[in-house]
Amino acid sequence: MELISLAAGGSYFRSPQTATAAAIAALEAGKTFYGPTEGTLSLRRAISLKYKTDGIKVQPGQILVTPGAKQALHNLCSVLLKAGDEVVIPTPAWFGFHELLKYSPGKVVPLPTHLPEGYKLTHDMLRGALSDRTRILLLTNPGNPTGRIYTKQELEALLEVVNEFPNLYLISDEIYDLVTYSRPFTSILSCQGAKAGRTIVVNGFSKSFAMSGWRLGFILGPEELVKKCTDFQNATMSGVSVFVQDAAEASILAREQELPPMQEVLSNNREIMQKGLDAIPHVTYYLPDGAYYFFPDLSYYLNRTSITGEIIKTTPDLCRYLRSCYNLELAPGDNFGGPGHVRMSFAIETPRLQDAMQRLRQGLNLLTAEAD
Ligand code: PMP
Repeated sequence: MELISLAAGGSYFRSPQTATAAAIAALEAGKTFYGPTEGTLSLRRAISLKYKTDGIKVQPGQILVTPGAKQALHNLCSVLLKAGDEVVIPTPAWFGFHELLKYSPGKVVPLPTHLPEGYKLTHDMLRGALSDRTRILLLTNPGNPTGRIYTKQELEALLEVVNEFPNLYLISDEIYDLVTYSRPFTSILSCQGAKAGRTIVVNGFSKSFAMSGWRLGFILGPEELVKKCTDFQNATMSGVSVFVQDAAEASILAREQELPPMQEVLSNNREIMQKGLDAIPHVTYYLPDGAYYFFPDLSYYLNRTSITGEIIKTTPDLCRYLRSCYNLELAPGDNFGGPGHVRMSFAIETPRLQDAMQRLRQGLNLLTAEAD
């Protein structure tokens, strides 16, 4: 039985053909030298045009092109945080935020949201978590691992709270913005109450464009802050390779041709994973509005014994069991602030996904049978 991994954060799709062709053309044209740290003007214009189509005005001077969204976040944390500052992060959240903040003087303050409430983050919950020590509120929309998309009304209600804190920056990680299903995505930048000087979007090409290995992300924000991040990036790693930026520019301009085929596969795969989970008793989950993960609650299957006599107490134990007995890899929810849950990506080939769901059902059913 070959290994099937649903644990990865990237999709199986090839990067857009447009991207590859543009990168080759740029290499052949000799674009192999340092480029501007802030990013090429033509890529920043293409990004600005994309946002303009969505009714959002961002000038190229408000954009910094970064080597991945991770680096965009690192730039921001380096520039904004000093000892004692707090970063409030609604959880479950991507484990990368915690890893990144280990190297920063800022302190993570998790703000738990829960499956039975559909991971809703209310005005009151947010009000209870923010204080004068909070420097950053870090939202992920669409969410990883939950797939939750905040509605425009929800965002505007949250912004009312955010605006009570004049030193607070709101960073919205919107890296999955073009991977959506049932609910429309609204960028924080198109919400009423989003203060131009305090609202930042982080985005990138790894997810929507299946370009994770190219290392391409960007920051949209107030010009003064973008300038500080550019100086930091200049001092530490300089700009992104120009041929990579040419590839990104070509992809963003061709998004209406390149993205729908991937989106169609993902919509179909989402349904397969949903049906697969529905076929397993005692599993609850949030049907993702965006991104490409389910984050089901498998806690019913904890504190059981496996066929090999192993006692399964925690989600990492459960994941180890499924890996060793079924060659199925899942990401334990503990790393995302959701013990008892697992993150399962459906951005893999459809037949392999079907096989994975069968393996999961068998693996869990056997545990049930053992305990009965
Ligand atoms: N933010 C979120 C929410 C992510 O899921 C990821 C990748 N898993 C990143 C940022 C990092 O993206 P990049 O590859 O552009 O660094």
